Amino acid sequence: MAAISQRRCSALDRGEFFSKGWTLAIGKSLELLSENKVVNKLESFAEKKQRPPGAAPSETEFRALCTGCDACMVACPVNVIMVEDMESRYPLIFPEKDPCIACEDTPCITACETGALDLKHEISGRSC
Ligand code: SF4
Ligand code: SF4
Repeated sequence: MAAISQRRCSALDRGEFFSKGWTLAIGKSLELLSENKVVNKLESFAEKKQRPPGAAPSETEFRALCTGCDACMVACPVNVIMVEDMESRYPLIFPEKDPCIACEDTPCITACETGALDLKHEISGRSC
């Protein structure tokens, strides 16, 4: 009899343990969201971005020259160039996630026919 009640008791403890665990996990998630920690983390990650090497020095000039043709993206051997948005398709690099390896022959610049990326501009990727 004592053994049965002990088994029941430990089953209850386990159930209670998991229930408390979930409550704590959900509570912690809500706390993070309410403090905007998750949102801030995503924003800080998204902020660290730059144009590919050789990008026109000003954002206005770059946007005026770039046609969003994707040629630089296709030419990059390590696929670090992403599109900023699906409509304009301006190229972007997220250096913390996928850094440019600074290819010696800069195929991204060679592929750009509009001058948005050009060797005459600063060779290192410009932050935007
Ligand atoms: S220099 Fe090389 S790695 Fe860097 S963006 Fe251009 S093609 Fe990609
Ligand atoms: S190749 Fe030049 S014009 Fe085409 S998306 Fe890249 S930067 Fe823009």
